[in-house]
Formats: sequence, C-alpha cells, structure tokens
Amino acid sequence: VTGQAERHDVVIALGSNMGDRLEHLRAAIREMAAELIQVQRASSVWETAPVPADQPPFLNAVVVAKTALYPHQLLATLKAIEHRLGRRKGRRWGPRPIDLDILFYGDRKLEEEPLTIPHPRIAERGFVLAPLAEVCAGPLPVLGAPAKELLAKVGEEGLERTDEALL
Ligand code: ATP
Ligand code: MG
Ligand code: MG
Repeated sequence: VTGQAERHDVVIALGSNMGDRLEHLRAAIREMAAELIQVQRASSVWETAPVPADQPPFLNAVVVAKTALYPHQLLATLKAIEHRLGRRKGRRWGPRPIDLDILFYGDRKLEEEPLTIPHPRIAERGFVLAPLAEVCAGPLPVLGAPAKELLAKVGEEGLERTDEALL
C-alpha cells in the first residue's frame, strides 16, 4: 500500500518473575501496541522454573508481531518498555518485572553488538521453546528445526502451561 512502511514479522519472548507477573506480561503487550509493534498471536502463559534457580518462578510467553521498526529501533523500544514497567539493572539473569527479548526478525541473521538475532540461547531454553512451539509450528527461521524438536532435546521439566490468556 502506498505510503505505508514495510512491516516485518518478529517474534518476541516475554518473561516476568517479580510483582504481578501476569499484569507485567499484559502491560508489555499494551505498550508494544502503542509503539508500532502490533501483536498478532500470543502463546499460552507458561509458569517455569527459574534459571538460575535461586529466585521466584517465571511466567513466560512468546508473541508474534508485525513492526515497521528496524532491529535496533525495536531493541531500543523494548528496552524503554522494560524500563517503564520497572526493570532496573540487576545481576545477570536475576529477578526482573519484565524481560523482552527479540527471538527472530523475519529470517534475518544479525550479529551487531549489542544485538544478536536470532537470540543466541533459544535452543537451550525450554521456557522459550515451549511457548514458541505454540505460535511457530514449522521450521524456525535460521535455526531450521521446529521448536518442538528442539524442546524434545532439552526436555519439558519445570514447564507448566497455565490457563491464562494474554490477548
Ligand atoms: P538473555 O539474553 O540471556 O535472555 P537477559 O534477557 O536477562 O539475558 P538483558 O539484561 O535483558 O539480558 O539484556 C542484555 C543485553 O542483551 C541487552 O542490553 C541487549 O543489548 C542485548 N541483546 C542482544 N541480543 C538481544 C536480543 N535478540 N534481544 C534482546 N536483547 C538482546
Ligand atoms: Mg532474556
Ligand atoms: Mg533481555
């Protein structure tokens, strides 16, 4: 359509293990909609064992969205949303009200500090793969294998699907 910026398909992982976790996931989706990131589909909400283990359990989900933002703009926007929802710098992989990670940006591969796409730890994380398998059934961009297959390798221990809906 004339005058409309090209929109790209992106996949974003959400996680929260502080405060009202479900509300943080929902608020993040509302904020994305207000920031040119249109969420099309959402996975179930999963309750997952924390990694590392010395912190409260997480709620995790994955959304598929369309955006006209370029990868670095998308990262900056997600970081701003994290900040608005109370995320402050803490220890690496420590507790947080919200984490928003870019899993995929179309089928692009990007290794430009400080942004790596696909997200480098997808294949080792059940808490990403279980919700991802619900919204991306086929072979994943770049990685080539379906999420379900990667999930079978890491196992489903510590992952529990909840009945909460995000959209
Ligand atoms: P992990 O990346 O292992 O899930 P984390 O999400 O806790 O860890 P953050 O503190 O949220 O890590 O982000 C650290 C930095 O990772 C960010 O400042 C960002 O620049 C960088 N980063 C690199 N690739 C990505 C990506 N695909 N999505 C989000 N952040 C990324
Ligand atoms: Mg993360
Ligand atoms: Mg992050």
